[in-house]
Amino acid sequence: MTPDQLIAYDKTHIWHPYTSMQNPIPAFPVASAQGVEITLETGEVLVDGTSSWWTALHGYNHPVLNEAVTEQLGKVAHVMFGGLTHAPAVALAKQLIDITSENLQHVFFADSGSVGVEVSIKMALQYWLAQGRSEKHRLLTVRSGYHGDTFAAMSVCDPVNGMHDMFTGVLIKHLFAEAPPRSASPAQWQDSDIDAFKTMITEHHAEIAAVILEPIVQNAGGIRFYHPEYLRQVRALCDEFDVLLILDEIATGFGRTGSLFAYEQADIEPDILVLGKALTGGYMTLSAVLTSRKVAHGIGSDGQGVLMHGPTFMGNPLACSVAVASIKLLLESDWQTRVMSIETQMREELSACLELDIVADVRTKGAIGVVELKQAVDMHWIQPRFVELGVWIRPFGKLVYIMPPFVIEPAQLSKLTQAIFTVVSEFDQQAMQNNSGK
Ligand SMILES: *Cc1c(COP(=O)(O)O)cnc(C)c1O
Repeated sequence: MTPDQLIAYDKTHIWHPYTSMQNPIPAFPVASAQGVEITLETGEVLVDGTSSWWTALHGYNHPVLNEAVTEQLGKVAHVMFGGLTHAPAVALAKQLIDITSENLQHVFFADSGSVGVEVSIKMALQYWLAQGRSEKHRLLTVRSGYHGDTFAAMSVCDPVNGMHDMFTGVLIKHLFAEAPPRSASPAQWQDSDIDAFKTMITEHHAEIAAVILEPIVQNAGGIRFYHPEYLRQVRALCDEFDVLLILDEIATGFGRTGSLFAYEQADIEPDILVLGKALTGGYMTLSAVLTSRKVAHGIGSDGQGVLMHGPTFMGNPLACSVAVASIKLLLESDWQTRVMSIETQMREELSACLELDIVADVRTKGAIGVVELKQAVDMHWIQPRFVELGVWIRPFGKLVYIMPPFVIEPAQLSKLTQAIFTVVSEFDQQAMQNNSGK
């Protein structure tokens, strides 16, 4: 097929994330990708500002990761995990147990982030059932969160920008505290910042199985950064009221926020930790749910408690092998320095956007840079415009943001930040003209 035929068939027949079949924005066909560059079938080469949704930490087509997959491919691509095990799964479990907090000693491998979230919720519910505490069956979370698109995960996404309205009556009604106050600097903490959460857990703890939230950075719910002290106090309140703490590190894990895991910044341990996205270095789908001996053994404490989950592709050997290689590559690299210099450069270069009327806020955290606008962008216009400028950036709503692969070079990063400034300036001009036309 020619590129035009690819685009046309795709547009008519294939759903893309969160799109309609009626008036979709045509998708750009990718021919290949290398390092931080994506090459389109139509010839354009784009600098990647997305890491393909938080996944491709080391960039694309990495020789070490390719090698891990092909080597495993020569042995076995997949075997069922029921009754069988294999070296890649064991190696990955050991690696994850070694690099996460001391208390986390048991691993469940699931297929995707959303499924990992489902498993984490199931673990918490089954734990309390096995303790004879079936009244502890609700979840407490915070607004502006995002935990995935399957039904239990959706039920703890932000009720306003999530899909609660569309599925009223289907989604279980959980408890929502106010979103953690945004925090731009360590000095910003105020003791009252935890009050809303504290009130919720104090009033409802008897029926709460677990608190679930994204540590330090809320991602798809608005790319909001909050103070580590908030998380520290959430942990303390969970302990005080006998509630489990589930941390969803699917987006923040593996160095993105400046620490290997975001929860380290609060110096706490979760009861259940969900990892995904960058786990395989962006090669394929895999998630891991880690938990403590207390929870894992607690689920079995009524003598027959099995964890009632078992995806067909659980512990896929190809995915586990590439995850092992990706984590090794990360730990052996100078990722902290890279993430810090990406943050510094983004902060300096994106701050130019602050002079534009249309810009509400510019913020950075680790290798995440956000320009928040006062109104939502028109994707039909902005997406092709970024491609014209030679970058791959995928805004949503009012947010134009980048989270590039850690291996990005300063000149490539400047290309991203300059493209953002150019496009946001043009959007600013358009908004001014529209307003004066009224
Ligand atoms: C992306 C994401 C998920 C969902 O993961 P999928 O692999 O898309 O199912 C869940 N939680 C967070 C925080 C995420 O960023």
